[in-house]
Amino acid sequence: MKPVLQAVRVRKRFGDHQALDGVDLSVEEGEVVVVIGPSGSGKSTLVRCLHQLTPIDGGAMYLDGELLGHAVHRGHLRPLSEAAITKQRRRMGMVFQQFHLFPHWTVLRNLTEAPVRVHGVAPAAARDRALALLERVGLGERANAYPRQLSGGQQQRVAIARALATDPRIMFFDEPTSALDPELVDEVLAVMRDLARSGMTMVVVTHEMAFAREVADRCVFMDRGRIVETGPPAQIFGAPRSPRLRAFLSRFT
Ligand code: ADP
Ligand code: MG
Repeated sequence: MKPVLQAVRVRKRFGDHQALDGVDLSVEEGEVVVVIGPSGSGKSTLVRCLHQLTPIDGGAMYLDGELLGHAVHRGHLRPLSEAAITKQRRRMGMVFQQFHLFPHWTVLRNLTEAPVRVHGVAPAAARDRALALLERVGLGERANAYPRQLSGGQQQRVAIARALATDPRIMFFDEPTSALDPELVDEVLAVMRDLARSGMTMVVVTHEMAFAREVADRCVFMDRGRIVETGPPAQIFGAPRSPRLRAFLSRFT
């Protein structure tokens, strides 16, 4: 089976800091990969690179077999234009720790803007789809609210619905519950669990270990810019092999 997403020996450096030091990752259709690891290990850099928000220094990434960020031209790699990269990015969805909703737009407009303006979807169709997505994340009644009228958990559910509105091939989540009050975390995780069960291909960076154990098909442990260990959650949490992973997990018990 061809992976939806593939990263091959990806490298990224900030100044003299090697944030990604040769990362290989392959994500199959419908697979949920949860990325764990200490702060500063490169988790955000990895998803930002995959989502084409940050250019890489080495290696290659593919979405449905198509080279991301570059094209092969007469046997040489050539960086794509910003416009071409933006086009590739539009096939992926991203949910950040901060919700990044447009504060002066209603929830509904936050969901319909990109499909209508960018993807050329007819306004009525975009509206129907947005309302169905809001229903799906439990916010069918709040289409006309403004972000500030919603709780953090509700805003993050809107952000998830917005990312889904453009029918992404894959969804990235970078610590989507880290900015939330503890009592609002579960409602967001519930939406993500539902999405995972529906067959969405997902890469999730999180410190929610119970969620990782339950929902991940595969867990990836990163440390110092590398994938140190990868495996099914039963192995990662039940029988961790590397001392660094064992040390990391001991902080959560
Ligand atoms: P994580 O998400 O695992 O906490 P990050 O990917 O955010 O880690 O960061 C990995 C390392 O790269 C950290 O040491 C961080 O300080 C550094 N880093 C990340 N982004 C930048 C940037 N834009 N400029 C400089 N250094 C950065
Ligand atoms: Mg991070």
